[in-house]
Amino acid sequence: MKKYLRLILEIVLGLLLAGALAFGYWSYAGKSHALKEASELAEGKDEASEEAKKLQDELEEAKAKLAELAPAAAQLEALKGSFENGVVLQDYEAFIKSLKGPITNERQLGLGALRMLTKGADDPDTVSAFQKALEMAEWSSRLKSICAAQQALVAAGQKVKVLADCAAEKEAGHSKAHKHVHWDYAGDMGPENWGDEFPTCAKGQKQAPLNITGPFEKSKDALVVTYKEGPLKVLNNGHTIQVNVEPGSTLKINKDTYNLLQFHFHRPSEEQIDGKPMAMVAHFVHKSDDGKLAVLGVLLNEGKDNDAIKTIWDNAPKSEGPEVVVDKVRFNPQSLVPAALSFYTYEGSLTTPPCTEGVNFYILKTPVDIGKKQVSDFPFKRNARPVQPLNGRKIGAS
Ligand SMILES: [Zn+2]
Repeated sequence: MKKYLRLILEIVLGLLLAGALAFGYWSYAGKSHALKEASELAEGKDEASEEAKKLQDELEEAKAKLAELAPAAAQLEALKGSFENGVVLQDYEAFIKSLKGPITNERQLGLGALRMLTKGADDPDTVSAFQKALEMAEWSSRLKSICAAQQALVAAGQKVKVLADCAAEKEAGHSKAHKHVHWDYAGDMGPENWGDEFPTCAKGQKQAPLNITGPFEKSKDALVVTYKEGPLKVLNNGHTIQVNVEPGSTLKINKDTYNLLQFHFHRPSEEQIDGKPMAMVAHFVHKSDDGKLAVLGVLLNEGKDNDAIKTIWDNAPKSEGPEVVVDKVRFNPQSLVPAALSFYTYEGSLTTPPCTEGVNFYILKTPVDIGKKQVSDFPFKRNARPVQPLNGRKIGAS
C-alpha cells in the first residue's frame, strides 16, 4: 500500500513538473465539450469533465503544498477510483488518435499518467507509454519531461537511472532554473559513457553515425526535397546550433512524406567517407505523420564562404539559451541543399542521447562549400559522436 502511495506521489510530482496531464487533458476536455451532445458517451464525458475539474483542483492544491506532498497523494488515492472504469483513458486515447500530426511530448506523458491511474503501474502499456514519452523528450530537450517520465518509470519498478539533475530539481521543489540533461562530447560525460544514463547508446545494434564505405547495395529510393522560406528561428542548445523550422517543409522518400522539424550542425562531420570526416555536416531532421524519423545529411567541405551559413552564424546565439526568432530575417533551408540528391543510405539512430534507433539516414554524396573561417566561427570545436559499429547493416547508395 505504501508503495502505491509513493507511485501516486511520484505521478503528482511528475505532473507538476511537466504540467502534462492538465495540458493534455484540457485540450481533450475542450473537444469533449463540443462533441458532447452528438456523442453516445455524453454521460460518461460529463463525468470525465467533472473529474478533470477535480483533478485540476487537486493539482493546484498539491502545488501549494509541494513540501508536504504525502497528504495530497493520499487524497489522489480516492480520485484514482474514478479512473478505474477506463472511460477517461479510452476517450483520451481516441482523442489522441484523432489528432493530426505528431503527438506532443506532453500528451504522451499525459497518456502514461492516465494509463497508470487507470490500469496501474504494472500494466505493460503504462510502462511503454512512459518509455515513449522519455524517448520523445529528446526532441524538445525538456529536462522537466525527462525527469517526470524517468521518475514515473522508477516508481513503476523499472530499472531506469534517474538523472542527477532530476534529483536536484526534485529536492529544490522545482524552484531551480532548468538545467540541460548532462551529456557531453568529451570527459566523464563523453560518448563512451552515454550508455550509463542512456542504455540504447551502448546496447543498440543500429547506432549512428557510420563510416560510409563500400561495397554498397543499390538503393532505388527517390528523394524530393521541398523546403519553404520562413522566419529564422535559431538556438544554441549547448551541443549545437539548431534552426527550428515551421511546418510546411517536406522531404518525400518514394511515396512517404516527412516534415522537416529542424536542422543542426556537427563539426567535424559525424559521418566519414572511407574513414575521413568532412569539415562539418548539416543534419536535416524529419518526421512522418506516423512517427518515422529520417535525417538528410549535407556534408560541408572547406572551400568558399557560404551565404546561407553566414545568415545562420550571424544570428545564432553565442552561448546556450532559448530559441531566438529573428523576425526580419527569412530563411529557406533549401539554400543549404545541393541540387544533386544522389545519396548513401542506412538505418541508424539519433547521434545524441538517448540514441533512439529507427532513424533512416540519407547522406548526400555532393558536399556543399563552407568557408574556413566559417568553420572556425562555429561555437563548438568538436560536437561529433564517433562512428559506430556496422553490425551487419548494409549501406545503400543511389
Ligand atoms: Zn545531428
